[in-house]
Amino acid sequence: MSFPSSVRIGGITYEVHVISRLRDEQDVLGRALCHKQILEIDAGLSVDAQAATLLHEVVHAILYQTGHDDHMEPHIRALGYGLLVFMQDNAELVRSLIDPPSDYSDLMRYRDLLGDND
Ligand SMILES: [Zn+2]
Repeated sequence: MSFPSSVRIGGITYEVHVISRLRDEQDVLGRALCHKQILEIDAGLSVDAQAATLLHEVVHAILYQTGHDDHMEPHIRALGYGLLVFMQDNAELVRSLIDPPSDYSDLMRYRDLLGDND
């Protein structure tokens, strides 16, 4: 699998780096360097594990970009893995959600409506 070299998260461009020996040298499968807008993924992982790790790091970055720096790792694991499996199992829905691309204005109003409510 080859990932794009960058992704947009909360209006910010993050570089995606697939790095050899990240797991060996840092004892992590991936990491989100949010202050540098870089997501790192271990190159030695299987294709599925790289995808799950990338989504895991994306969830970290989404929370960071929305001011939620102090979050629980088990929640990130559940969301990263859960989102990947959900998207794989529901590709038609995912395509309908992103086509046509949003200009985000409606989504920003929706986010404001939610406030702290669930
Ligand atoms: Zn994590």
